[in-house]
Order: sequence, then structure tokens, then C-alpha cells
Amino acid sequence: MTKAELTCPKCGHKQETNIPESGCLAYYKCDSCQKINAAPEGICCIICAYSDSMCPVSTKG
Ligand SMILES: [Zn+2]
Repeated sequence: MTKAELTCPKCGHKQETNIPESGCLAYYKCDSCQKINAAPEGICCIICAYSDSMCPVSTKG
């Protein structure tokens, strides 16, 4: 399974998450500050928003 490194927009903490093979992750919880980070409006998921990777939906076009 592919992994992405998410960066928390609140505290800057970096954590790895598994990228699902299909579908999007709408939100995740920061391991450091416990903030629930949701994808901003107009961005499909937290993988695209907070990591340097793209989700499978985006990469498929
Ligand atoms: Zn955080």
C-alpha cells in the first residue's frame, strides 16, 4: 500500500498515512495536537491537501 506523509496545518507535525487504493480521505486526526484536519473546500481529500502526494482519484485524472 502506498503511503503519504501528512503535515498538520496547525502544529506542523508530520505523520504517515496509508493512501486508500480507491476513494478519498476527507479528514484525519493529527497525532500530535489531536486536531481533526478536513480537506479545504475545492480540494478532494487530505492526501492532496496536506501531503506531497496525490490521491488515486486525482492521479487517475
Ligand atoms: Zn497537529
